[in-house]
Amino acid sequence: MTSATLIDGKRISAELKSQIATEVSEFVAAGGVAPHLVVILVGEDPASQVYVRNKQKACEAVGMKSTLIRLSAETTQAELLDHIARLKADAGVQGILVQLPLPRQIDEQAVLDAIPPHKDVDAFHPENVGLLVQGRPRFLPCTPAGCMQLIASVEPNLAGKHAVVIGRSEIVGKPMGLLLIQKGVDATVTICHSRTRNLTEITRQADVLIAAIGRPNFVTGNQIKPGAIVIDVGINRTEDGLCGDVEFASASQVASAITPVPGGVGPMTIANLLKNTLTAARLQQG
Ligand code: NAD
Repeated sequence: MTSATLIDGKRISAELKSQIATEVSEFVAAGGVAPHLVVILVGEDPASQVYVRNKQKACEAVGMKSTLIRLSAETTQAELLDHIARLKADAGVQGILVQLPLPRQIDEQAVLDAIPPHKDVDAFHPENVGLLVQGRPRFLPCTPAGCMQLIASVEPNLAGKHAVVIGRSEIVGKPMGLLLIQKGVDATVTICHSRTRNLTEITRQADVLIAAIGRPNFVTGNQIKPGAIVIDVGINRTEDGLCGDVEFASASQVASAITPVPGGVGPMTIANLLKNTLTAARLQQG
């Protein structure tokens, strides 16, 4: 029996997407051109293909244009950078997203650095990361922004609450910590990672626990403070299908609210990508 409230990312993302659809149609009615997102997919990674397809469908559903550039797994870094340079110069493209991970011959950071900051709808460019660090973001990183919205759906006031993030990646863990400590949110944040000692001691102090590790069912109910809000970012493919980084069965007995996998953070990431694409169009089309 589940005692925790299920935080329904599908419903919350649908609300956000419907709001974005309204804003897109207002933007177009006011003389703007429908925002255009270009996604570059290098190679044949099955998970990436699913993500890219979902991103494209979501764009179309809110009235945005999306284009997919598919490149072979043998693409060189120079070739990929040429594509980005062409899209940078194209005024008909407002958002550029390079689906990660990239094949080994390509330096991921060099590619992310080449995306023009105003078209960087994933918010991975150093300028956009810097603006976020300074508390004046241009774009919010999609997955952490989605986590914040899910938390806000059950607890709008995080001031002084202890938020524990497990994971320090550039994509999730680190920016998640930045969003939680920003002024106006005011959580007290601990970031844990693979070298953290006494992890359970720390996670058991968390009023809000965010797991972004990439290990199936890593966090169990006995590591969670009773009544905590638990956000499971993990997407792990196992023999039994998709699962998160949190063992749902035990965690949901202890937490007050918890996200499912799938249907939690995943759909929020896409909704925030759409939001950023609209922001990019507004910035570029005045
Ligand atoms: P990553 O591999 O870049 O980072 C994993 C982090 O976990 C590292 O910082 C590492 O220090 C930490 N870690 C590893 N072992 C640990 C341990 N034993 N104890 C404590 N910390 C440990 O992964 P990522 O890109 O941050 O993604 C994490 C998970 O989130 C993956 O499952 C990924 O698929 C998923 N993800 C989901 C979405 C979404 O939209 N839902 C978006 C991005 C990533």
